[in-house]
Amino acid sequence: MRHIIDLTPDELIEYLKGINQPRYRADQIYKGLYVKNWDSFEDFSTLPKSLRAELAGQFYLRRFTLIDAIKSPVDNTTKYLWQLGDGSRIESVTIYEGKRVTFCISSQVGCPLDCKFCATGKMGLLRNLSVAEIVEQVLQMKARAERPPTNIVFMGMGEPLLNYDTVIRAADILSHPEGLCFNRKKITISTSGIAKNIRRMADEGLPYSLAVSLNAVTQNMREKIMPIARKYPLDELLDAVRYYTKKTRRRVTFEYVLMKGLNDSEADAHSLVKLTAGIPCKINVIPCNSDDPLYAPPEDDVLIRFDQIINKKNRTITIRSRKGWDIRAACGQLYADNERKKRIHVEMLE
Ligand code: SF4
Repeated sequence: MRHIIDLTPDELIEYLKGINQPRYRADQIYKGLYVKNWDSFEDFSTLPKSLRAELAGQFYLRRFTLIDAIKSPVDNTTKYLWQLGDGSRIESVTIYEGKRVTFCISSQVGCPLDCKFCATGKMGLLRNLSVAEIVEQVLQMKARAERPPTNIVFMGMGEPLLNYDTVIRAADILSHPEGLCFNRKKITISTSGIAKNIRRMADEGLPYSLAVSLNAVTQNMREKIMPIARKYPLDELLDAVRYYTKKTRRRVTFEYVLMKGLNDSEADAHSLVKLTAGIPCKINVIPCNSDDPLYAPPEDDVLIRFDQIINKKNRTITIRSRKGWDIRAACGQLYADNERKKRIHVEMLE
């Protein structure tokens, strides 16, 4: 049985044609799915009963079971733990910052990239998520959020550019004018540096925003904390980002997780300015959230100095507070309780 969310409007029209239903039924179904956010075919009161029964016999509408939801008493950040149809578990996070409501969603169960400061990386990769599983996260979170989302970021579990086709198709569904109609520029795909697919995004002229998790200014350090740097060295990554910004005329966001004694020196800040010179970008500096003492956050004065050096060069920099830190929902802290399975190597995925 297929998940109905997997279907694009055109595919839905095609399916309905096959069962002798008029085209306008597709609009009604799409509206029920994305605008009304109905979670049972019984609720589709605009459809005849026979069609509701037909759909219920052919498609899943919801496959998630909510296992746990933890809300931070500090900033209302809410972390959800979902169980998927096959028993796998993933996490998604809703972050409230003033008027901004960000849904941070996952693209894989676990992650194959093993970034040293990241809890998800320790799980290894269990599998890619499907289009429906990515979109269902948003629908389930929307039903529970205090306000509708203003931003969607692929910064939860997994490396989205290693599940490229699925992630793009899910983003297309989320932004489809007849569906959620989410502003495409407010959907951000965050990569740890899959250079090949950054170029692909540029070549395909995709309208989504791009964030790159840089985290080090030398090849040596990058390899130490992000093993993917061996496959896509720093130079190659920055070349791909330059290609992207030139081709799309869009700004990228560089994420830089500051780790005490590893990448937080004044020399690192100067190198960061130098490396990103000439690239239209914004730099997000995030104090590390790892529990591992080897990857501790820097002292406050170090953070302030880092910020000053970058600001002095007129680069746009944001120090991101550690939202959700108290409930282990901050960046790099997602670790759904899955049975650890054998790692699937990046080469296999590609
Ligand atoms: S930081 Fe992102 S890419 Fe790296 S291991 Fe964690 S989830 Fe994967």
